[in-house]
Amino acid sequence: MARRYRCGTCKQTWPYMSREAAEALRRTHHESAHGGAAPDDEALQSNAERIDPMLYVYVLGGCTLLWLADKVVGLF
Ligand SMILES: [Zn+2]
Repeated sequence: MARRYRCGTCKQTWPYMSREAAEALRRTHHESAHGGAAPDDEALQSNAERIDPMLYVYVLGGCTLLWLADKVVGLF
């Protein structure tokens, strides 16, 4: 899983790299651009796939329909 550093104060985002490299870049950026302080709006963003939250709604809806069908016509 790679990370990229984003400095919202400078409105810059660097490419994805290893977590260690991104953290080193962040420290270097603090020193070079912000006098050693952390800017207010910064992030180490992950490129990991995120699950669509609607998937939970679909699964719950499907289970509810199966439960209702079982209650109505006794599927199981
Ligand atoms: Zn910055």
